[in-house]
Amino acid sequence: MDLDTLSDRLRRGDRRALSRAITLVESSRDDHRRDAAALLERIADPDRQAMRIGLSGTPGVGKSTFIEAFGKMLTGQGHRVAVLAVDPSSARSGGSILGDKTRMPHLARDPSAFIRPSPSQTELGGVARRTREAIALCEAAGFDVVLVETVGVGQSETLVARMTDLFVLLLAPGGGDELQGVKRGIMEIADLILINKADGAMRRQAESTRADYAGALRLLRRRQGDPDGFPKALAVSAVDGVGLDLAWAEMRGLADHRRATGHWDRTRAAQNRHWFEEAVRHGLMRHLAGDPATRDRMAALGEAVAHGRAAPSAAAEEMLGRLLGTKAEGPENPEGG
Ligand code: GDP
Repeated sequence: MDLDTLSDRLRRGDRRALSRAITLVESSRDDHRRDAAALLERIADPDRQAMRIGLSGTPGVGKSTFIEAFGKMLTGQGHRVAVLAVDPSSARSGGSILGDKTRMPHLARDPSAFIRPSPSQTELGGVARRTREAIALCEAAGFDVVLVETVGVGQSETLVARMTDLFVLLLAPGGGDELQGVKRGIMEIADLILINKADGAMRRQAESTRADYAGALRLLRRRQGDPDGFPKALAVSAVDGVGLDLAWAEMRGLADHRRATGHWDRTRAAQNRHWFEEAVRHGLMRHLAGDPATRDRMAALGEAVAHGRAAPSAAAEEMLGRLLGTKAEGPENPEGG
């Protein structure tokens, strides 16, 4: 399929075209990269903006159950919902756990939904670019809610928070220990904390966990410009569907407020700038790793620095001089070669 056909079908909301387009942006082949860049230029449309929601939680907390119920609720209201995943563990195992269609069987069959598992890739930096581009493709295909799911480990939350408009953290009912276990960094990026499994025997505990988190969140600094009460903690049950409508109302309220104050656009602008700079850095790193002479010199300088034969900053200057084609004095090699 040529790029014109692909972008036409994509913009008409054709899910197969969307799948193909995502496969294209996931490829690292040079010709695919060029086509992907051309496609992304072609489909860019400021009038098609989805609400991008990051969603995180440790395995077993109920992410897939929540996304299935929440997604069905939204498609029932006429929304079109895309689910993407950033799964750092899939890079290690080579398979994907998150975003697996079998985890969300009803949503996967819903014609108003689109589910895409995490790309398997060794580098989180590469996953970031692919996911960001996949979000752009979903928006162009007319999906007005894009959920980006990730697991509560490592840096993936920060990464997802930098490509979404809202960040939701899903937690299980639990006592004080649980509260301690949540890294402060994650608390700081969450706009909404949902205590899931607030049903049956766990309902009361979920409510008290919610109160604990609400208290902890009050101690955090409110993000500039956000309305009173945010970040907020709510108790929900993904299984019973309780609290999902309220959670959505809170997300919409926060989004409307941020749009009205200009915060929304400013955040997206800052995110775009971040990803541009990140792409430049990533390109430099790839060049460092990809060119054998550069890689060898990098390793040799690393050894020299490790053994005290060269100062880190002087060695870095030499390396940068090589990369940028400027003349820099190397510590071990004054000729620069
Ligand atoms: P994930 O690993 O975060 O995707 O979690 P899952 O959605 O697979 O859920 C893990 C387990 O928790 C499953 O056995 C679910 O049935 C259960 N679960 C998920 N949501 C709820 C809920 O709202 N209430 C109860 N009681 N169990 C739930």
